[in-house]
Amino acid sequence: MARYTGPKCRKCRRYGVSLCGTAKCALQRRQNPPGPRPTRRRKISDRGLQLIEKQKVRYAYGLMEGQFRRYYDRAHRGGGVVGNNLMQLLEERLDNVVYRMGFGATRAQARQIVTHGLVAVDGKKLSIPSARVRVGQEISFTDRGKKTGFYKILQDDIKGRDVPGWIDVNRDAVTGRMVGEPGPGDWEPHFNPNAVIEYYSR
Ligand code: ZN
Repeated sequence: MARYTGPKCRKCRRYGVSLCGTAKCALQRRQNPPGPRPTRRRKISDRGLQLIEKQKVRYAYGLMEGQFRRYYDRAHRGGGVVGNNLMQLLEERLDNVVYRMGFGATRAQARQIVTHGLVAVDGKKLSIPSARVRVGQEISFTDRGKKTGFYKILQDDIKGRDVPGWIDVNRDAVTGRMVGEPGPGDWEPHFNPNAVIEYYSR
């Protein structure tokens, strides 16, 4: 699956918020957007602001436009608040759940853990980052995953990582279970899902 592979923090600097998920984001050193300084400041239209909000969420989850758009379509078919549906679908992706469990330090690392076949869902290897995790399902490391140097380090690192309320993690066993649906307050507060919906619904 294609994804953005350019300079990691270019998007962070563009949107002025850390989207890479790493502790040493370039945003801490350089606050200005990438590229040459604009010669004049232009007022950004509502449409432009909605686009920015859409891109922020899309880059944070590491998705290409077509795939992200399909999440919008699915969110739109659900009842209730469409923006919350969208965020819930994104949060329930296997790579994101692995990230939220603290098994990956960033979403990008969590995706790699999945694609390399290091995790299992309910005991069966699942290497598709976009797979949807359901309430009650348990994520663990495969035998192959447990043999990696990464896993050895994680056994220590996991002790210092917090998890949201919709996830339950056994830090000794390095397993995690989805115990509820993610809702408002469970994703980054700088995301604006309603603006994302407005962007697509005009
Ligand atoms: Zn960054």
